[in-house]
Amino acid sequence: MTGDPPCPRCRTDSVLAELRLPLTWTNASGNEVRGVSEVLLCARCDAGDPVAGPIVAYFAMHGSVRPEHTAELARALRHWADRARLPRPDETEASYRGDL
Ligand SMILES: [Zn+2]
Repeated sequence: MTGDPPCPRCRTDSVLAELRLPLTWTNASGNEVRGVSEVLLCARCDAGDPVAGPIVAYFAMHGSVRPEHTAELARALRHWADRARLPRPDETEASYRGDL
């Protein structure tokens, strides 16, 4: 085990945070399907994102979370989580298929 999974977008080990969101959608048969969607915060892919960018910049500068910045960073992460766009289930499956 190497810890965090590598980023499925850039295929590097640049993932800073991983968010698991319960997800419910209706499939083509009209049945409700429940699953978990993972949203990754990647230092490479999300550096230019207006919400994730500041978090990436923080880690680039400090390396890890400093105790005096915990509240500030938690707020930024929550803001990112609120804005995080969920990939469609079929896209999620496609993006992870290569890793299995
Ligand atoms: Zn990436």
